[in-house]
Amino acid sequence: MEKLVIIGNGPAGATAAIYAARANLKPLMFAGNQPGGLLTMTGKVENFPGFPDGIEGFDLVMKMQEQAEKFGARIEYETIERFTLDPGGIHRLEIAGGGVVETQALIVASGASPRYLGLAGEEKFRNHGVSACATCDGAFFENMPVAVIGGGDSAMEEANFLTRFASVVYVIHRRDQLKASPIMAERARKNPKIKFIWNSVVTDLLGNGDLEKLALRNVVTGEESFLECRGYFCALGHIPNTKVFDGQLDVDASGYIKRIDGTTRTSCEGVFAAGDCADPRYRQAICAAASGCQAAMDAERYLESRA
Ligand code: NAP
Repeated sequence: MEKLVIIGNGPAGATAAIYAARANLKPLMFAGNQPGGLLTMTGKVENFPGFPDGIEGFDLVMKMQEQAEKFGARIEYETIERFTLDPGGIHRLEIAGGGVVETQALIVASGASPRYLGLAGEEKFRNHGVSACATCDGAFFENMPVAVIGGGDSAMEEANFLTRFASVVYVIHRRDQLKASPIMAERARKNPKIKFIWNSVVTDLLGNGDLEKLALRNVVTGEESFLECRGYFCALGHIPNTKVFDGQLDVDASGYIKRIDGTTRTSCEGVFAAGDCADPRYRQAICAAASGCQAAMDAERYLESRA
């Protein structure tokens, strides 16, 4: 029987593990499908306090994890495929591939996954031009035209990064104004390799084996066109990884876990939520880390109250 299990080892899960380990709870952390979380898919993180010269996202989560392990946290590179939550009781976790873990308290820090448009071509050309991670796949597109879909900070960051490799980076946005923060937008606007395609949506992905072109529609004029493009990078925001808790935890209309009274408590007693899976508003690494700390403290108090 575990005292505390943490789902996810991104900044929220890893910070929860640091605090819980220092409280001598010997937490067990499951890394899941995307070990280290979304931060491992980003490049240099320039806004995490304490790193004035920036730090690679991957290095940052690895440092957090090292810190958690130093204090006695354990990590398993497995995914939990089924949860049976028992409010105030023992929660049962079934590991994909076999094995069961029971725990008195649970911190869900399962993060969020990239959103796609839902076009058939996105599946068809996955790993043949379609990606949601410029850091991971950008180098495959040396001297080729690529497109980034979206107008937020992620889109600007992806587009800027891709200019290291691509011949041209088209940013395709459904409006004529960016959602991105002014500093990120300005950086992209100043980059001569980035071309904006405004008021436009992708309607199809075409190619023979590999992606070759996109079909576009201008949402203002209705005009249809094609764009030669070998890489397609989706930067449309994220979907919280909470489906596995369907019917067991209260979530909002977008699937984010609801927390109670400004704490990390969820609708199920003994289950706490931290990070992007419960944060539709801020979704920053520093916010995830902070809520991981809160979740560990809430879990510690919960366990203490039952001792
Ligand atoms: P986001 O801010 O939600 O932006 C998503 C973009 O995708 C928006 O421009 C949106 O269009 C577009 N979009 C969404 N669904 C669409 C659809 N079905 N069809 C066409 N376009 C669609 O997501 P994000 O850029 O991933 O950023 C998330 C959070 O992380 C933000 O708080 C951001 O500041 C932060 N972030 C920070 C950094 C950094 O500081 N280094 C880097 C990346 C992300 P609309 O504009 O029309 O809504």
